[in-house]
Amino acid sequence: MRTVAVYQSVEDGGAAFPPTSPVSCWLLCEKSAPPNGIPGDAVAPETDMDVLRQIEPCRQAVRDMQRRGRIVGLVPTMGALHEGHVSLIRAARERSDYVAVTIFVNPTQFGPGEDLDQYPRTWDADVDACESAGADLIFAPENETMYPADSSTSVHVSGLTEGLCGASRPGHFDGVATIVTKLFMVLPADLAFFGEKDYQQLVMIRHMARDLMIPIEIVPCPTIREPDGLAMSSRNAYLSATERKQAASLSRALFAAVDRVKGGERNASVVTGGIRGEILAAGPAVIEYVDAVDADTLEVLSVIDRSARVCLAVRIGSCLLIDNVSIAM
Ligand code: AMP
Repeated sequence: MRTVAVYQSVEDGGAAFPPTSPVSCWLLCEKSAPPNGIPGDAVAPETDMDVLRQIEPCRQAVRDMQRRGRIVGLVPTMGALHEGHVSLIRAARERSDYVAVTIFVNPTQFGPGEDLDQYPRTWDADVDACESAGADLIFAPENETMYPADSSTSVHVSGLTEGLCGASRPGHFDGVATIVTKLFMVLPADLAFFGEKDYQQLVMIRHMARDLMIPIEIVPCPTIREPDGLAMSSRNAYLSATERKQAASLSRALFAAVDRVKGGERNASVVTGGIRGEILAAGPAVIEYVDAVDADTLEVLSVIDRSARVCLAVRIGSCLLIDNVSIAM
């Protein structure tokens, strides 16, 4: 059985990482006060997965691995892990020798009135999920660690972040770009794994890494879905039973659109209009957008004449759901 150790930094009164011996590990774990309600008691002398709260031990762990010629994979998340996240950790496990997962509900990507306070937090289950998917390290920092009181720097990716979700969530992608850059600095991995479920985010991060010359390969991973096609999301937990049934209309409509394009339809508004109709027929919903976009530039297409992505955001009840499908040419 794999075991978990929770470390604090020397600054916090804990011991340094890595521990020098199993005994120091025990002492360390017994001494570690669990910050932010994160339990520190699931410990044993021989550890396979570490939980770190501070920056420097993470850097050290990654550098130690790389010095030994190991490939390090990184999976950034906000926790409340589901099979979608687990698929990223497994993909990282397949391509890397050492897998770091980050769990941090990033406040700067939530707008005023969004669900920051309600965002699901399922720490114990997340640790289990990381452990059984084969993670070697969880980085779970406090807000103050990632955003010290006097921090005043953010990262903005223009163009790609203006349409789709960017139009109705001002500042959201600045928050994402900033936290991902910080995580890349804390855990300077070789590979970083992101889901196609958040397609605009994936494209933005790939572009940002290129622009900032960050030497981390961005690896896209396919969307994992529930049996009825609904894209897995931590936010699906907000849906009532009726809304949950209705939510299956999103992927149904997207898959029908793929068939329509395969059948020869090229007019984007005919394709997106069909999607809107199918979603609204399933029940009350607010459609924020349905767009066919160029798969690389995210430019909105009126004619689907190249590799594209059909992306949508739909509010059902209080829950904002996003999804997308690939249109290959
Ligand atoms: P989140 O915790 O929602 O910020 O997501 C963390 C990572 O998991 C992002 O790269 C997401 O794109 C990815 N992800 C979320 N849901 C899914 C899913 N259903 N399938 C694949 N990847 C996903």
